[in-house]
Amino acid sequence: MSSEHDEPQPFRYDAEVDPGETRHIQYEVGETYLGRPVEIPVTIINGEHAGPRLCLSAAMHGDEVNGVKVLQEVADRYEPADLHGAIVCLHVVNVPGFIAQQRYLPIYDQDLNRSFPGTSSGSTASRMARVIWDRFVSKCDMGLDFHTSTRNRMTVFHGRADMEDEGIQRLVEAAGIPLVISGEGSSGMLRRVATEKGTPIVTVEMGEANRFQPMLIDLGLQAVENVLAAHEMHPEATPRRTEFQKVLTSEDQKKWIRAENGGLVEMKWGPLPIVDEGETICVISDHFKTEEHVVTAPFDGLLVGLLANPRVLPGHPLVHLVEIDDEDREHVRQAYEDVGFARHGIFHWMGKMGERMAESVRDRQLNRGADNR
Ligand SMILES: [Zn+2]
Repeated sequence: MSSEHDEPQPFRYDAEVDPGETRHIQYEVGETYLGRPVEIPVTIINGEHAGPRLCLSAAMHGDEVNGVKVLQEVADRYEPADLHGAIVCLHVVNVPGFIAQQRYLPIYDQDLNRSFPGTSSGSTASRMARVIWDRFVSKCDMGLDFHTSTRNRMTVFHGRADMEDEGIQRLVEAAGIPLVISGEGSSGMLRRVATEKGTPIVTVEMGEANRFQPMLIDLGLQAVENVLAAHEMHPEATPRRTEFQKVLTSEDQKKWIRAENGGLVEMKWGPLPIVDEGETICVISDHFKTEEHVVTAPFDGLLVGLLANPRVLPGHPLVHLVEIDDEDREHVRQAYEDVGFARHGIFHWMGKMGERMAESVRDRQLNRGADNR
C-alpha cells in the first residue's frame, strides 16, 4: 500500500489513468454470440495525491442491484482533486446476468463468484473473472463487493468476511459494518481469493434482488465514506458508525429456519427484528385457514434474513436467525433507535421513511413495551 508521502501513480490496467483524472470506460471482458464485445462499465477515479486503492464491485450476481446504485453515486460524488489514492468502480461485474436480470451467467448458469481468479483458457465465467482480476482487482489494496440476498429473500445490512485475516479486520473496522458473519468463503469467491492474495475484500450483503432500496444504499455509501475517512483518502469524508458491532463465527448459533408445510406465510415478529425463544415468528396456513402451523424461534435471536415471498413449500427458508445475548439485544435496540429503525433495516425498503412513519414505529415499540409489563 502506498503512503501519502509517495508520489501519486498512474493507474494502469492496459491503459493508464493519470493522477488527477477520472475515467469512465466500457471494458471488454468477453464476446456475445454475435461476436460483439461484452463490456463492463468501469470508473477509475485516480486521486491527485498518493494513497491506497479501493476496489468497489457490484452485480457480481446479475440481479443484485442495490450496489449498482451505490457505485453510480460514488463515481459521481468524489473528485480526483480531493482524493488520496484511487477508487475503482466495477459497476456491473456480471453484465450478461444483469441484462438477463438473473443471478448467474446465462445458459450454463455459471456462478461468476465461484470463478476467481480465473484462467484465460477456462470456461466463460473463468475467462471473464481472469480479465477482471488481472486488470482491476489485483491492482487494488482493498475492496468492498456489494451483494444482496438471492431473489425472494431479503437480508439486513451485514458483511461476510474472514475475520481471521488482519487486513479484513482493519477493513471491517474502517467500514463500520455492524454485523459480520465470519468465514473464509467458498473457493473461487472474489473475497476469498482476493484476501488470500493480499487484497482484503469484504462482501457487503444488503436487501433484496432486483430493487433499489434507498435506506440500504445510503448505508452502502456510508460504508465507502467510512473507508475513505479511515484511510485519510478524502479530507471531507465524514465517518459515521454505530457502536454495535457483532462478529458471528462458526461457533455461534445461526440457522435458516425452514417451512415444514406448504402454504401461505404471515410474518408475526416485530417491530424490532428480535425474537425470544418460543416466540412466534410466522404462521403458515392453507387457503381455508383450517390448518395453521405456527413457527417459533428455537433460541433468542436476531432476524438477519427473511423470506420475501409469501408462498412456501416444505423446505423453503423462512428466516435466518442468529443467536444474540442480552447485551447484543440492548445494542441492537439502541442501534435501531439511534439511527432510526429504517436506516438499519430491511423493513422499509420501498422508499424513504417520513417522520410520521418513524413516529408510528416508535409508538408501536412503546406500546409493545407496555404490553410486556
Ligand atoms: Zn450475490
